[in-house]
Amino acid sequence: MAVQFFNTLSRRKEQFNPIVPGQVGVYTCGPTIYNFAHIGNFRAYMFEDLLRRYLEFRGFSVKHVMNLTDVEDKLIRACRETGESLKKITDFYAQAFFEDIDTLGIQRAHVYPAATDHIPEMVDMIKKLREKGHTYEENGSIYFKLSTFPEYGRLSNMQMESLRAGASGRVDADEYEAEEARDFALWKAWDEEDGVVFWETELGRGRPGWHIECSAMSVKYLGPHFDIHCGGVDNMFPHHENEIAQAQCATGQPFVNYWLHCAHLMVEGRKMSKSLGNFYTLRDLVEKGIDPQAIRYTLLATHYRQPANFTFEAAEAATQALRRIRDFRIRLEEMHGDGDMLEQECRKCSDEFTDEMDDDLNISGALGAVFNFIRDVNKKIDEGIVGSQGAANALALLDRLNHVTGVFAPAVEAAAPQEVLEQVAARQEARRNKDFAKADAIRDALAEQGWIIEDTPDGARVKRV
Ligand code: AMP
Ligand code: ZN
Repeated sequence: MAVQFFNTLSRRKEQFNPIVPGQVGVYTCGPTIYNFAHIGNFRAYMFEDLLRRYLEFRGFSVKHVMNLTDVEDKLIRACRETGESLKKITDFYAQAFFEDIDTLGIQRAHVYPAATDHIPEMVDMIKKLREKGHTYEENGSIYFKLSTFPEYGRLSNMQMESLRAGASGRVDADEYEAEEARDFALWKAWDEEDGVVFWETELGRGRPGWHIECSAMSVKYLGPHFDIHCGGVDNMFPHHENEIAQAQCATGQPFVNYWLHCAHLMVEGRKMSKSLGNFYTLRDLVEKGIDPQAIRYTLLATHYRQPANFTFEAAEAATQALRRIRDFRIRLEEMHGDGDMLEQECRKCSDEFTDEMDDDLNISGALGAVFNFIRDVNKKIDEGIVGSQGAANALALLDRLNHVTGVFAPAVEAAAPQEVLEQVAARQEARRNKDFAKADAIRDALAEQGWIIEDTPDGARVKRV
């Protein structure tokens, strides 16, 4: 079977074929760094992590770009309310964001472009839209004229009759509801509320709207036409509709082939909200003593298009599932002598896992295949017929599938922080380049920090001394 994804644009599952064979460009809408991300945000980033890891598992070379929104209405408000500078707030929360994704074992994107580093690119795109007649100006702000893009609303399947009938109006806010689908701001002229947050550009003194950043930065890093764009369902309108309108009108080319959206995360069956007292950041949960791997498992285990429900019971069940995997690994490591090679079990598990994941990332089916495998192999271990080679085959399979899920690792490996894993990767690189002096220096540095590297046939593993 080939990889299939449910494409929001066509509302059906489609076989995935990248524009350039073997290579995939993925853009995922990132955080507005004005606060700690909540676990709902991490559900979206976790789904995107799974998508990327699975594409890599299937042999694609992926370029993953995630923006950091560091200028936007909510941020301007935060500056006003706290009296802090934009940079101070966004530096702090960007760092918190990176710490959090490391805690959850989310792979880092290849590029994290920040909006404020790309003002010239946004200005250029707005100028192109202006030259092509897609904009108008009002009190120094520049708006996108929706009536010039008849395709608008296709992604979210909006009924745009009112617009087509010539209803007029504008919206200045970055976030708004479907009923307010209107000409939206590309460039916002400075006003007093913006304080010192403005740029002097050819478009005048002001700041970009939120939507233009994703069009300008995705086109810059992935080209005008790329493969996959993701976000949570709330991004579909207006943000992604606006991205499509801006990019296609500016470049004159199709923008994105596959749009993937994840459903929202609920907490204890309800929408997460501060007033309900069920609003959690990752840090809140870690402080309550929940293993980050169990949080990873919980956020991962529901199919991305189904609403997921975070409960403390589910986190406990995830802890049990992880324990089962880790105990199984320990059991396998103790096997010795000759015995069953477990070839049939490994092949069955690998095939089922791949078939399930090929089917629009059906992670629950894929995890089910692994737990059936654990049950079947445990039975054979009980019968005393598994030897060291069979156990090594089973462990190698778990390692391979761990590249996709990040939840089948031995407990120690899972606990290694990102900096340590990066040093291990640097040592591997040095060894590949036959720079053994450098490789040994990295190994010694790691040992000083309390980590030992073990070279196994499946690559290097790191353990706490
Ligand atoms: P924001 O910072 O609000 O733009 O959100 C960042 C990402 O998290 C976007 O892709 C949102 O769609 C996603 N997101 C926000 N809330 C939730 C939620 N409760 N469940 C899942 N994803 C969410
Ligand atoms: Zn975006």
